[in-house]
Amino acid sequence: MRKNVIAANWKMNKVLSEANQFADAVVDKVPADDNVEAIVCAPFPFLPALVEKTKGSPIKIGAQNMHFEENGAFTGEVSPVMLRDLGVTHVVIGHSERRAYFAETDETVNKKTHAAFNHVLTPIICVGETLEQREANETKDHIENQVRKALEGLTDEQTASVIIAYEPIWAIGTGKTASSEDANEVCTHIRSVLKEITSEDVAEKVIIQYGGSVKPANVDELLAQSDIDGALVGGASLEAESFFKLVEAG
Ligand code: PGA
Repeated sequence: MRKNVIAANWKMNKVLSEANQFADAVVDKVPADDNVEAIVCAPFPFLPALVEKTKGSPIKIGAQNMHFEENGAFTGEVSPVMLRDLGVTHVVIGHSERRAYFAETDETVNKKTHAAFNHVLTPIICVGETLEQREANETKDHIENQVRKALEGLTDEQTASVIIAYEPIWAIGTGKTASSEDANEVCTHIRSVLKEITSEDVAEKVIIQYGGSVKPANVDELLAQSDIDGALVGGASLEAESFFKLVEAG
């Protein structure tokens, strides 16, 4: 049985005092539960405070990006070594906003995925199609390509522990959610690709999240689907109350 993983993706929002308030509001509310994992992926400047505040709680803290090198002359970048040293456990890789605005490619996504495993971070790898690709019936091919490239060269053990977030780009921040059946169809396809890459056993272990306008009102229906094991949530994760409701649903 796979657990549900609910991950907040705050994007470039909040200031430190607001991040602290959020942590104070949720830290005692989220109970240890083998069936649900709660992760908060926050901007870099808040990570040390959030790790500190959530110590001893089941809430995990993630970054939203990182460089794939360990250190060096990469002005403005943050390395996996730095994240691990802070106590961060997860990192979002290849979010569509990073692919669209910051030249993230399938190749850098693959390098960052390897770097995450080399530094004991769990990658949350994002894949998703544009509206044009969906309308042209290219969704499955495009997603398959992104998944195959992201996971290239991983061991079976590593593949079993990735989190894949299927986020149709047209559903992100738009209020438009893919119907739960459509979302599940793509997630089922991702799992069948994982079976081809590895084995049925490994593929059945991989957590596949849906992301794109998930909120308390639609999360139950999405999580009830056979191949959706959680959600990566932007807008509805910013308020502690709403994030808590999403975790409760998981
Ligand atoms: P949204 O963002 O929930 O605001 O649509 C999801 C995401 O980009 O991860």
